[in-house]
Amino acid sequence: MDLAARKARLLDHRDALFEAFDTPLYAFFEEDLRRNYREVRAALDDHYPDSTIHFAVKANYNLGVLSVLRDEGCHAEAYARCELTATQAAGFDPEDVLLTGMNRPVEDVERALDLGVERFLVDNEQELAKIREATDRTGTEAEVLIRGNPAMEVPTHPEVATATRESKFGLDIESGRALAVAEDAVEAQGVELVGVQLHVGSQIRGVEPYEVAAREMLSFAADVRDATGVEIDVLDLGGGFPVPYDEEVPDTETIVASMADAVRSAAADRDLAEPTLCVEPGRRLVGNAGALLAEVGVVKETPHASFAVLDAGTNAVSSYWPYPIYALSEADPTEEYHVAGPLCYTGDVIQEDVALPELDRGDVLVVDRIGAYSLGSASHTNAEPKPPVALVRESGDVESIRARETCEDVLGNDRIPDDLRGEEASSGRTN
Ligand SMILES: *Cc1c(COP(=O)(O)O)cnc(C)c1O
Repeated sequence: MDLAARKARLLDHRDALFEAFDTPLYAFFEEDLRRNYREVRAALDDHYPDSTIHFAVKANYNLGVLSVLRDEGCHAEAYARCELTATQAAGFDPEDVLLTGMNRPVEDVERALDLGVERFLVDNEQELAKIREATDRTGTEAEVLIRGNPAMEVPTHPEVATATRESKFGLDIESGRALAVAEDAVEAQGVELVGVQLHVGSQIRGVEPYEVAAREMLSFAADVRDATGVEIDVLDLGGGFPVPYDEEVPDTETIVASMADAVRSAAADRDLAEPTLCVEPGRRLVGNAGALLAEVGVVKETPHASFAVLDAGTNAVSSYWPYPIYALSEADPTEEYHVAGPLCYTGDVIQEDVALPELDRGDVLVVDRIGAYSLGSASHTNAEPKPPVALVRESGDVESIRARETCEDVLGNDRIPDDLRGEEASSGRTN
């Protein structure tokens, strides 16, 4: 859906949204979440039907959002303790959850096994040891995938490139470390080596990294087979599918088609059976499904620029990405503004030089396509409560899927030493 259509749709729901919520608020569209999943599923069905989609829960762990994806038949990839909790609260079958992570307490692995999670990613030697301890203590078995790092060049923001030589993730393939851990996994009790995994990075703007990844990982799988006699069943190529923020990016169909070709030809080259393909999209399933709606409270001319100051800023949107920003009105852009948040630091500017209509106090701006990572990275800078989340249902109804935080939510876990309690504090007033 292009930006004009997205704006028209928000204008259609404007009254219903503002009847239920004040700004700032996040608005998500159920139809986008469902369409996103179906597009990825359809591309896989066309090009590589023997495949599963595991939503990377870290991209958005709101229980309402997760429930829509689960309802579509999506599986989940959970990296951390409470992400696993979120999948269970949202009704995912534990068998459909892949547990990843690079430093999980052994208790978390035990809990996952007790819940019925079967598949675990191995990022490092200690992780394999912890999985073995946990299967021992719980009397269960775990299927494991080795996370490889083939030291790739990855065309994205350096903070979100993960399969590079410098990255902390995965087991280095070239040095033989990954193979050594795979051999340990094959020999270990309670653990079955079923696959190899890699996650190239996020917002990958080309198809080539996926082709390189498929070749590298299947060549690693062939080395594992040659060394141990075990042929893997699962190739997991991680996430990274991009969302168009301010530029054209390859569509999912194109990425999946070349991924599928690369998997087939690499498998044939190394005389491997075609594996089941897993993908772990995060951003692609949720990024375009949500927008931040914020109100202009101040329009301020400085010698440097015109600032439009909103009631939410970098506390509410994940950094790095050039989100489309527009006014929620029919007016045409005639001016340029630096769009800033209200926070007490200079860097609290969402974007500079944004073309917008002439703004006044009370106008609403949309920071669009913020559905990935923004809720998770939203902060309490300046003790700012996090905005509520609205879900526009396919029926057109607007429902709350997360309440607005209060000062109590921000401060309520803090404790004052007894001898320092003043009158205000001892009355426990935080609002
Ligand atoms: C972050 C992450 C993903 C999802 O990345 P996107 O760019 O959002 O698709 C998938 N797998 C793992 C292991 C991750 O850490």
